[in-house]
Amino acid sequence: MKKVLITGGSGFLGSHLCDRFIKEGWNVLVMDNLITGNLDNISHLLGNKNFQFIHHDITEFIDVEGALDLILHFASPASPMDYLEMPIQTLKVGSLGTHKALGLAKAKGAKFLLASTSEVYGDPLIHPQKEDYWGNVNPIGFRGVYDEAKRFAEAMTMAYNRYHDLETRIVRIFNTYGSRMRIYDGRALPAFMSQALNEEDLTVFGDGSQTRSFTYVDDLIEGIYRLAMSDYVEPVNIGNPQEISILDFAKEIIELTGSKSKIVFTNLPKDDPKIRKPDITKARKILDWEPKYPRKDGLKITLEFFKKSCF
Ligand code: UDP
Repeated sequence: MKKVLITGGSGFLGSHLCDRFIKEGWNVLVMDNLITGNLDNISHLLGNKNFQFIHHDITEFIDVEGALDLILHFASPASPMDYLEMPIQTLKVGSLGTHKALGLAKAKGAKFLLASTSEVYGDPLIHPQKEDYWGNVNPIGFRGVYDEAKRFAEAMTMAYNRYHDLETRIVRIFNTYGSRMRIYDGRALPAFMSQALNEEDLTVFGDGSQTRSFTYVDDLIEGIYRLAMSDYVEPVNIGNPQEISILDFAKEIIELTGSKSKIVFTNLPKDDPKIRKPDITKARKILDWEPKYPRKDGLKITLEFFKKSCF
């Protein structure tokens, strides 16, 4: 039986990866310090003999007994509110944590997959964003703690690939939504859904003309699984290219929930990217992957999750 270590495995994406790898017949080990993760996300797996959880901060030395075939490095605060509140932990897990996880992969001869992000493109000057775009990041801005940590993590991953011949993969994840998101993590989708369900005003930052491209979690997990199984070393964008302005997105959520909420405009956070849309030519070609869930379908499923778990 193959064994995978998922760092950050009790978070939103990590826990969906646990489900997928258990389903594929893997032995799954999760390490998480639970600063943004939640045991509720993996509680249904805790009795499974092929599943183990270890409470550990992966910026500290990682010790795992026995063989490992794969490491999925997903530990990190990932919502802007979280990394603004935890700037140093965010920098540490992207740098020290990535180094520790890569060192473990090298010691075990395991394949390593890094969860990177569309934030490596910063406030992009190229649209849509292709993997060969180097990005436009403010290193000393508030978002720099996340963006630069992930850029460093990519550089470190490539260095282990080139200098230690480690088998590595890098996925650049675009805005993703679905069950197990935290309702109060500050991101646009949970914020708008909770506001709409509570009949409160939806807080659109700036004039709402900034765009994002939202991917349903099942599509993302499929793309990551295919990348993990592939032999492709360079970064691959995984995201849904269906782009929408944040103002239209807020209106879409009001319509979907049937809420009487209104929209209010508040200050745009500094360095908030103005546009974001993945070019997924590479993922289509190399992984034969593309998203299957139109936003309307994914949003309906996610709304049911929030209604059931939070209201
Ligand atoms: N946003 C907003 N209202 C909110 C939360 C977010 O208008 O209550 C905006 C935010 O400024 C950004 C977009 O929605 O332009 C997406 O924000 P999110 O935090 O979801 O993710 P990001 O793509 O910025 O990492």
